[in-house]
Formats: sequence, C-alpha cells, structure tokens
Amino acid sequence: MKGMAELLRSGATMLSRSCPECSSPLFQLKSGEIWCANCQRRVVIVPEGEEATAEAGLELESLERALVKKISAMEGTLATEDTPAKLKEVAEVLDALLASLERLRRVRKG
Ligand SMILES: [Zn+2]
Repeated sequence: MKGMAELLRSGATMLSRSCPECSSPLFQLKSGEIWCANCQRRVVIVPEGEEATAEAGLELESLERALVKKISAMEGTLATEDTPAKLKEVAEVLDALLASLERLRRVRKG
C-alpha cells in the first residue's frame, strides 16, 4: 500500500492524467509503471498515452465481457432448442457473436 506522499518520496512523478476509474491523479513509478494511489492498482495506458485512448480500451474490455456473457448464455439456449429452424437461428447468432469477439480481440491487440 503506497500513499501519494510515499510515492513522491520514492521518486515517482505525478502525471497530468487522471485515473479512468476514480479520476485521482496518476503517478509514474521509477519502474515506468503507472499507478493510482487511490485504487492501489496499476493503470494501463494504451500507447499514445491519451486519456481518451485509455477509456476506449476500458470500453472495449467491457464490450468483450458482455460478448463472452452472451455467448455462454447462447450455450444454454442451444442445449434446450430442438427444432432445426430454431437451432439454425441460434447458430447464426452464435456465429455473429463469435465473429464480433474475434474482431474485438484483434482491435484490442492493435
Ligand atoms: Zn483510481
């Protein structure tokens, strides 16, 4: 656990950027890591370093989580559907969801 004062004493520098989670000022540690003293966690800033980019990264992350959730929900639907027409429908939706997930992961990797 490192407070702001302690961070500064250890040679960390306060950045002009703020934490995307709590809006507290972020610190850059001597090791180069970006740290939020309020959340007590490392904050990952996507290259370019702009706050907007970091926020977009977070949005993609929650989008990915939502997609994964939907895909596992479809698994239950698939197990209970018996009619070929319905199954085809479910398979099509699954296909679209998986394609979105794959594309999303490609975008996140850059
Ligand atoms: Zn924070």
